[in-house]
Amino acid sequence: MNFEPKKHLGQNFLLDTDIIRSIIDSINLEDGEEFIEIGPGHGVLTQMAVSRIKGKDKKIYAVEIDERFCRKLETMFLEDPGIIIICKDVLDYLPEFSPKGEFKIFGSLPYYITSPIIHGVIKMKKQPKQCVFLIQKEVAEKINCKAPDSSYLSSFVQTFYEVAYLGKVPADRFDPKPEVDGGIISLERKNISYNSDFVSKYEGFLHKAYSHPRKMLNKIFTKEELEKGGINPSIRAQNLDSQQWLNFFSKLNPALYEI
Ligand code: SAM
Repeated sequence: MNFEPKKHLGQNFLLDTDIIRSIIDSINLEDGEEFIEIGPGHGVLTQMAVSRIKGKDKKIYAVEIDERFCRKLETMFLEDPGIIIICKDVLDYLPEFSPKGEFKIFGSLPYYITSPIIHGVIKMKKQPKQCVFLIQKEVAEKINCKAPDSSYLSSFVQTFYEVAYLGKVPADRFDPKPEVDGGIISLERKNISYNSDFVSKYEGFLHKAYSHPRKMLNKIFTKEELEKGGINPSIRAQNLDSQQWLNFFSKLNPALYEI
């Protein structure tokens, strides 16, 4: 079988066993839980995960878009009914996934769809308890930043998840070598409850808030809105953290989210 990497599918494969181990060690592997792996490729992370949860009542849904790898993975895990190979686009799979209980997601993500995947995860019917992702270092740092250097992505993700940046993965630990370094992040779900309309409205609200990052908030929101939210009109979006954005949103939209 020809496994020539397809650049347009973000196929950069992990070479370093220590990195593979550290990704799997960062997931709290608990009995009876389900897991989704995004983009298993040759199955190096899948195999390490299987060795760590041997004997446990496990289910790993390994979601891969490239049929060549789906066939390879089906053969590799023929004897292991706990590994289910799902041969489809993960962006289609996430909205339809119905977990039995708590579940977690991990993967070395295809860089070209990092942001859609993170948005897709946050918009799932039920959000995963934990995610461990290897993504571009710059994006990992952006997700992890804090006020006064908040970004749209840090505010959005940190509303729902505690973020931990676990370290850099140099580009030369992949084959083929990508153009940028990677970074590992762990996301632990916070306990916030909300109705189904909330996430997309909140996403739109944050997009508007960060639409002119250099401008003061009084150029983006009306005087009435800022007063209602108790927000200082002369600060910039980057000065507010996720909790302050959530408070502001809830003051403007009490029917959608109540603090
Ligand atoms: N897990 C492997 C590793 O660490 O060596 C491969 C990681 S590679 C960075 C990304 C993987 O995601 C590739 O196997 C690629 O085919 C797969 N992929 C790309 N786009 C995808 C999509 N939309 N849905 C599911 N898998 C996808």
